[in-house]
Amino acid sequence: MANDGLNLDALKKKYESVSKSLNNKVSDINWYNPTVDVNNVIRILPPWKNGASFYKETYYHYNVGERSFACPAKMEGKPCPICEFVEKLKRSSDPDDQELASSLWPKARFFYNVIDRNDESAGVKVYGSGIMVFKEILSYMIDPDWGPQLVDPKIGYDIKIEKTGKNIDTRYKVKARKEPSAISNSAWLDQLYDLDSIAKIESYDALAAALEGKDIVESKSSNDKVKTPSSEVATSSVKKDEDEFSSKASSESEPKRTPVKEEKKEDPVPTKSSHAENSEAIIAKLKKLRGNK
Ligand SMILES: [Zn+2]
Repeated sequence: MANDGLNLDALKKKYESVSKSLNNKVSDINWYNPTVDVNNVIRILPPWKNGASFYKETYYHYNVGERSFACPAKMEGKPCPICEFVEKLKRSSDPDDQELASSLWPKARFFYNVIDRNDESAGVKVYGSGIMVFKEILSYMIDPDWGPQLVDPKIGYDIKIEKTGKNIDTRYKVKARKEPSAISNSAWLDQLYDLDSIAKIESYDALAAALEGKDIVESKSSNDKVKTPSSEVATSSVKKDEDEFSSKASSESEPKRTPVKEEKKEDPVPTKSSHAENSEAIIAKLKKLRGNK
């Protein structure tokens, strides 16, 4: 029988969409990270779907134990136990509480589909930047010398990202090329990551448990396997580019921000002990708040 009820074209389409969704698993994300003192050249790719922009804005709570969590309040307007905790801390006159509030404050992170011009064979990568780099990228897009076609695959412009310094002195400079260029492989446009799926939002209860350190115990004892994809993406993006985040802590002041302890240390990436210190401080504070009620 020639036709057994299966439409080959439909199956092909399905196969492609399934393959694409599999490619989009956050654990499979090919991350891009600029290197210090290297000529980092990237091309930001256009929106991954109709109605999307070329970037995805997310907000993360860093330093919750050993993990980072997308903030449901900032991203979806839903209650967030971590934000509620931060609000309580901010009302305290204790400098330690202010410091803890600063470290837990939700911080913006922007994701882009990019081509690493120094590693084109790797195909599409995802770059996560802080707000300063994002602002610089936007400044080129509103500059008539470049404009929104900055991210056009044919007549757009490559971008140089200069990363200098170490730890809290890490600085980024974004420079768009003067001459437009085309991307080398148009097939990349079919391989863009769905940036909407990058920041998975955990339930209120899961976040509350994480805040109380319950999650920390679990992830310590049973390794990374129990972690959800969202933790993987958050952790990987944080770890790989945390120096930027740390530099932000000093250069991008937020209301009532006070210097964070870690900034004075040589290593900007919070160490196990500083994670533990933070978790202990959070748990101690939570207990105190309950006792005060
Ligand atoms: Zn929050």
